[in-house]
Amino acid sequence: MVHTKNILREIDGEFPILINDRNLIYLDNACSALKFKSSINAQGKILAEYGSCAGERSVHLLALKTEEAYKKSRISISRIINSKPEEIVFTSGTTEAFNILANSFKFKENDEIIISGLEHNSVFLPFYKISKRLNLKLKIIPIKNYNPDFNEFKKLINKKTKVLCISKASNIFGGIAETQDITNYAKERDIKVFTDLAQYAPTHKIDVKKLNIDAGAFSGHKIGAPYGTGVLYIKEDLYKHLDSSKVGGGTIKEAKNVNGEIKVDFLEGYKGFEAGIQNYAGAYALSVAYEKLNEIGFAKIRKHISSLVKYAKDNLSNIKGVKIIGTGLEEGSIISFTTEKPGFSHPDFSIFVSNYKNKKIAVRHGRVCADLACINSKINSVIRISFFIYNTQKDIDIFCQALEDYKSTIDS
Ligand code: PMP
Repeated sequence: MVHTKNILREIDGEFPILINDRNLIYLDNACSALKFKSSINAQGKILAEYGSCAGERSVHLLALKTEEAYKKSRISISRIINSKPEEIVFTSGTTEAFNILANSFKFKENDEIIISGLEHNSVFLPFYKISKRLNLKLKIIPIKNYNPDFNEFKKLINKKTKVLCISKASNIFGGIAETQDITNYAKERDIKVFTDLAQYAPTHKIDVKKLNIDAGAFSGHKIGAPYGTGVLYIKEDLYKHLDSSKVGGGTIKEAKNVNGEIKVDFLEGYKGFEAGIQNYAGAYALSVAYEKLNEIGFAKIRKHISSLVKYAKDNLSNIKGVKIIGTGLEEGSIISFTTEKPGFSHPDFSIFVSNYKNKKIAVRHGRVCADLACINSKINSVIRISFFIYNTQKDIDIFCQALEDYKSTIDS
């Protein structure tokens, strides 16, 4: 447990909410993590001291400073994920990123899309909608043993398949999804691979080259940065297959009158996707949070989280009526379980633990926006606990005690 003590010492004082409320036990990190003080301050600094636009619009001093910070953020993130800065598009989060991808990809008649049965609604729904609008076939890879089934995937693929969406880590089953064989197989057939990294980014080092993907996205608020921030990695070569669904100020190269008709040329690359004034302060704060995680070291973070997942798994397994779902859980940050006890209400349980003795335990229940996975696995609701760098074994002990106590209230 040496690494665990080290990491906790390293981040001591970094999360204002935990300082302000010593009774909070926050186990809803897969939904949104608590925010780093340094990231909050970074956002505040840009808003308080810069406060203007960036980009190449205005050239006054504040605009130059804002642009400098924005540029620095793009470079910093690209270094961590092993991409070029020009391959980073700032977004409001993973949901926006997948809406951009679905609505920008230059689909043609009869093209087909494949998504895995693990996809979060923020990936599933944009591709579902575009498939309905353009009358394209949307195929779903069945799940086997909590992972997309490689053999079934091979049966779905054909010459018409243009896009594959495959999540690196499910937000319901936990662990890390077995996606590399599927990704490589698709890439060898010139299918574009878009990967949801929302649950992977907080505790795993991303290397977009090793992942062998064309696009990937994650959200700032899950890595300790502000809400409404996110990163969309777009491989340089993918841009020519996209026609940005978001246009406006900052995306125009030239508008001209050609024989009485207005013609517009748009900017290429990431500039074509960042329409309008951007969340410069948020992007900067995101880069500060991400650098902080990188500085602590993803290997150390993983060790800490893995030991928590293992501890929680061992302890929950001893509680009667709890059925843990998923495989290889120690690789991820999430434990979801169903309950077999009659009268066990998941909403009531969430309320019960949120005011348990003098503790406020935060957990999540329901379908957790993973409707496809729930339909496939015939699950109506789970209770999900999920960890980030500040969690401890004591959090798990108290959670398990609360679970036992809730169960005894339904016995009586
Ligand atoms: N994908 C996964 C796997 C997620 O867990 C989430 C958030 N729960 C999202 C996508 C959507 O992220 P956001 O709400 O930040 O856009």
